[in-house]
Amino acid sequence: MRFHVLTLFPEMIDSGLNTSITGRAIKNGLIELDSVNIRDYTKEKHGKVDDYPYGGGAGMVMQAEPVYLSYKAVEDKIIKEGRKKPRVIYTTPQGRVFNQEIARELSEEEDLVFLCGHYEGIDERALELVVTDNISIGDYVLTGGELPAMVMIDAISRLVKGVLNNDDSAKYESFTDNLLEYPQYTRPEQYMGKSVPKVLLSGDHKKVDKWRYEESLKRTKQRRPDLLEEKNEDSTVTE
Ligand code: SAM
Repeated sequence: MRFHVLTLFPEMIDSGLNTSITGRAIKNGLIELDSVNIRDYTKEKHGKVDDYPYGGGAGMVMQAEPVYLSYKAVEDKIIKEGRKKPRVIYTTPQGRVFNQEIARELSEEEDLVFLCGHYEGIDERALELVVTDNISIGDYVLTGGELPAMVMIDAISRLVKGVLNNDDSAKYESFTDNLLEYPQYTRPEQYMGKSVPKVLLSGDHKKVDKWRYEESLKRTKQRRPDLLEEKNEDSTVTE
């Protein structure tokens, strides 16, 4: 899986993702990270990539040409290496909201391009020319698309085979089957007068599985009842 990130702040992407589990996956060649500085594609003398919005209003807008040319350079490289034209994700508060299902769908791709906006956003014409998916990480506005790109790349990477030490970790956790994960415990058995639930020490895997499923249901009911409603709707559709 190759991630290409078009950004004005490649150092932010590199330092964020070359750390911990994603950093190890990059080192081991399980994922590739290619941060592309949009500023390298401006023809302006002083490296300028933004300008005032037509029609007036606050802030600056990223110009179409450096965005388009930086994307084209990535697309040309991918095609030359014999792979298909990539999906291009514009990180934007105006997109569909990212979730585990979208992460799973995107983890099937060979290449993914993330386009990070800054300031007031990007000239609409560049977006029309290159973007295939508009994706938001939530209903709030950030200063730039770098954190959203890192959030999505992190969530997608852990679904790539071999990235987690145990691939089952990604199979049995929150949002699988519209449930939140059950509570987890590790040593010691007693902490500040609180004990680990007895069933987890019983060695009876059937009982442990039953307890975990019930705890998942209870927790989802308490914290995210909307997930259970979706789960019920899905099961009526397939019945
Ligand atoms: N003027 C834009 C609007 O109202 O829709 C917001 C621009 S925002 C200040 C600058 C950039 O941050 C956006 O172009 C986008 O790339 C990124 N961004 C901000 N909030 C985001 C979110 N919730 N999800 C994904 N990207 C976001």
